[in-house]
Amino acid sequence: MMLIPTHHFRDIERKPEYLQPEKCTPPPYPGPVGTMWFIRDGCGIACAIVTWFLVLYAEFVVLFVMLLPSRDYVYSIINGVIFNVLAFLALASHCRAMLTDPGAVPKGNATKEFIESLQLKPGQVVYKCPKCCSIKPDRAHHCSVCKRCIRKMDHHCPWVNNCVGENNQKYFVLFTMYIALISLHALIMVGFHFLHCFEDDWTKCSSFSPPTTVILLILLCFEALLFLIFTSVMFGTQVHSICTDETGIERLKRKGQPRAHRRSWKAVKETFGGDFSLNWFNPFSTPCQPKTPSDKDLVRQGPSLSDIDITDTTTTTAEPSEETKEEDSLEVIDE
Ligand SMILES: [Zn+2]
Ligand SMILES: [Zn+2]
Repeated sequence: MMLIPTHHFRDIERKPEYLQPEKCTPPPYPGPVGTMWFIRDGCGIACAIVTWFLVLYAEFVVLFVMLLPSRDYVYSIINGVIFNVLAFLALASHCRAMLTDPGAVPKGNATKEFIESLQLKPGQVVYKCPKCCSIKPDRAHHCSVCKRCIRKMDHHCPWVNNCVGENNQKYFVLFTMYIALISLHALIMVGFHFLHCFEDDWTKCSSFSPPTTVILLILLCFEALLFLIFTSVMFGTQVHSICTDETGIERLKRKGQPRAHRRSWKAVKETFGGDFSLNWFNPFSTPCQPKTPSDKDLVRQGPSLSDIDITDTTTTTAEPSEETKEEDSLEVIDE
């Protein structure tokens, strides 16, 4: 799911023409409030459909190959309910992760008028994204698939066809957790089914022919094992990111440099929605949204020397152009 190569993290284009705030015009119309968020990316849509197909395949094999033909009704009902509830929660979390705005920064707000209205004091700067012409709050990053800057962007996940950011990380974590749980549950059921059928008569074990039953079960086994490993690793990484309040992008940008040990219970509560309760596991419960970023959040202190990426500043350090000088006076930094 982490498909972001290291050299793409800073999306910096320090070309003078990008540094002119007047080139940023407001978007032609503000998106209507309440519009559904959906990324029109062919690869992401295909991956999301494959995800649904794989869950529905598992559902089919569990129900029609293993549980319905079984003569142990108590076993079938208990496992059928558990598996279906978990699968439903996994698909619901997937929909919520895909259709929730991950924390997009208003597009095209880096206009000259808006920057002037912020009344920057000496030493204060605003960071402008040259690609979507927005003013980047702290910890926001540009996603080239979503074509937007996303607050606390962790990574863009094609499996949920969306960025994982401040507002939808809870749903993504729940999605990985429920997929890991149904995978584990399916593996245990396949194990029991094989044991049971080896002792019994194969023809009474499933309504399908023995070879078809074996092929369907082996395919389910492979699928469940693969997804169990994949989603539990992802779940662990996400929980670690939330507990240490460090996104995947920030961790990779740090390039292994040591970082002050930071545990943040507050960040965990913000991500999952308040104090610990069952709602943490409910994909239909919206986590407490952080306050809408105010203009104050857009203004930052000027970069220290360590923040300046030497390789990316050639345009601005050597022979500053007129535009760059003008840029300096406006205290807008392209990031
Ligand atoms: Zn951007
Ligand atoms: Zn994205």
